[in-house]
Amino acid sequence: MTDFPSALLTKKQFLLSELQTRGLRLVDPKAGAASRRGGAGPTDHKAVTLLGTTIMVPVHTRGAATSPYVANPPDRHGVSVLRNGEETVCEISFPPQPRFYGLSTEDGIPFWKIAQLHSRDTLATTVLQTCIRYGNAATKCQFCAIGESLKGGRTIARKTPEQLAAVASAAQKLDGIRNVVMTTGTPPTDDRGAAVLAECAAAIKSATGLPIQAQCEPPADFEWFSRMRRAGVDALGMHLEAWDEDVRRRIMPGKAGVPRAYYLEAFAAAVAIFGRGQVSTYLLAGLGDTVESLHNAARTLIDLGVYPFIVPFVPVGGTPLASHLPPSAEFMRAVLPPVGEWLSAAGMTSETVKAGCTKCAACSTLSTFEKQSACAA
Ligand code: SF4
Repeated sequence: MTDFPSALLTKKQFLLSELQTRGLRLVDPKAGAASRRGGAGPTDHKAVTLLGTTIMVPVHTRGAATSPYVANPPDRHGVSVLRNGEETVCEISFPPQPRFYGLSTEDGIPFWKIAQLHSRDTLATTVLQTCIRYGNAATKCQFCAIGESLKGGRTIARKTPEQLAAVASAAQKLDGIRNVVMTTGTPPTDDRGAAVLAECAAAIKSATGLPIQAQCEPPADFEWFSRMRRAGVDALGMHLEAWDEDVRRRIMPGKAGVPRAYYLEAFAAAVAIFGRGQVSTYLLAGLGDTVESLHNAARTLIDLGVYPFIVPFVPVGGTPLASHLPPSAEFMRAVLPPVGEWLSAAGMTSETVKAGCTKCAACSTLSTFEKQSACAA
């Protein structure tokens, strides 16, 4: 593994990568906004602000329980001291519980079951909390917990456009939400969820005008990209999760039936509609792709105009990969710096993205390497 010289990392880059891979022990588990457990995408983590950046840090994983990093209970201003053994590392804070969590629909559904605050200013929802691949061990993605939050009664199976418009409006007014991420479990239709995402985007856009990212598998008919764009979707995520086809087959036996080549075709068609840098894909580091493989992926994707959002894998309770180790901080430090430089050189940074996970950027430290290459911080 070719490690990036640690001497060239800032204290902040070093510390963020430590926390995001090793996790954090909370002396007071109730500190800040409620942490996510289960659900789609990276989860079992909590938003933490340190040295001017907010990132998601695992707090419920097995690794977090033995992390050397410990947060003292926050004071009345929400500020806590981060320790590593006897050493005081720095002050950290936790974004507070958003005010819209206190509201409910007329029929009594709490707004927090419809959409959640992610990081500081991103509203995120899973429009369909069910997936054709989830119920069957032969097809489900091994890392996914989309059904766990539904089973636990922490969300509802399907969010309507009206519910989402009401929640987004309240979150914008009460909590200053600046963009919306909508993901979905994959339904048994060949639009792969694009139709419900378009319907919900239209309602949210008309109520709030907020920038919106939609996330789904590549649809059979690429005309859906134009339809989603016309409905108010500003950015699109289609998530490969892993680059190597063998890793994809092992980790997500159902979704890997859609080959990487088809994603690449879909990316090219989507970039033509949404623009360079406004289409992105998750790549979960730590599931088997090597540093070289992730760098090949990043090069190919950036050339296509797609932002490779490389995120350290978080082992989530209740999934088949709950005991799988996350990548080491050293692995992430080898992967991310060159990718940050390539993104900056291509003019496709987190700052230029209109909405979505690459805008929020809290599940990876990748954007801190963009800033370093752009302004030599
Ligand atoms: S990067 Fe995406 S999944 Fe992660 S906290 Fe932000 S919006 Fe949520």
